Amino acid sequence: MSVSAPLIVRLLASSVSVAGRAGKIVRDVMSKGELGIVEKGKDDYQTEADRSAEKCIVASLSKQYPKASIIGEEDSSVEEGEVSPDWIVVDADKEVLGLECPASLKGVKEEDIVVWVDPLDGTSEYTQGFLEHVTVLIGISVNEKPVAGVIHQPFFKNQTGGEVKMGRTIWGLSEIGVGGFTPAPPPGSLIITTTRSHSNPVVEKALQVMNAAQVLRVGGAGYKVLQLLEGQASVYVFASPGCKKWDTCAPEAVLSAAGGKLTDILGNFYKYGASASKPNKTGVLAAVNDELHSYALNRIPQELKDTLANK
Ligand code: AMP
Ligand code: MG
Ligand code: MG
Repeated sequence: MSVSAPLIVRLLASSVSVAGRAGKIVRDVMSKGELGIVEKGKDDYQTEADRSAEKCIVASLSKQYPKASIIGEEDSSVEEGEVSPDWIVVDADKEVLGLECPASLKGVKEEDIVVWVDPLDGTSEYTQGFLEHVTVLIGISVNEKPVAGVIHQPFFKNQTGGEVKMGRTIWGLSEIGVGGFTPAPPPGSLIITTTRSHSNPVVEKALQVMNAAQVLRVGGAGYKVLQLLEGQASVYVFASPGCKKWDTCAPEAVLSAAGGKLTDILGNFYKYGASASKPNKTGVLAAVNDELHSYALNRIPQELKDTLANK
């Protein structure tokens, strides 16, 4: 690996490589067919794929970046020797390694970095066979702000429906841009994307007020942001406290690097420091640009914003 690349660029390049390996673990568990489902809470599941993919990512990144804080959804404590050597990835994606580093991130030190890892976003969909909705998310934050991120889709299908064996990996770096996919303009009419498996009356109320031409219901924060990036939807609305920091850190980093915006339902940015509370209590509102974000924010009644803020 080029040791001359700035730290953030190296960490992003390492994250791209390890996300691909984690994606292979996710596919392998599915093809073996023994998912090892554990219920963590109401409508909240974990499988063997979630556990193993997290071990792969946390062990690989902490080995190379020991002073960075790495926070994973499944809370893997990775003991030396516990993780198969086959899961330790120390390669770094060559294309990403060659990226320019934004001036504001050149002086970043390892101890300033918090990495939020969702080893498998869209677990409900994974267990129910909606495999395209599944993503591996690695979000990199500095000074509480998401600055770089990776969204890997292990079961990506190309436009003719053919499965792409290695999946695909999308990345974003603040001020520099995005890669791994072809960005597309937003649809001509208002298309909203939202949860498939975690709705409730407040979530539905926030959708009704949008006056949308269409509402898409898909799994995962990662996949919904991919829909925004690829012109399938223009706004993501989720008026519920169910998402956590590992769900939104990478999607926010990639979306904002592409010119979009992700906040809570009140229009405030989340903070991603190491001691940040994990739940995104005041929901998620993301859009492909500022104008559509403001439109959606203004349509949500104050009463609904208060309901979430006071939960
Ligand atoms: P969804 O859009 O429902 O797929 O949710 C996006 C992410 O937030 C997934 O990782 C979900 O597991 C998580 N999430 C959303 N709502 C809830 C909830 N009510 N309970 C647990 N996890 C949730
Ligand atoms: Mg998730
Ligand atoms: Mg997850």
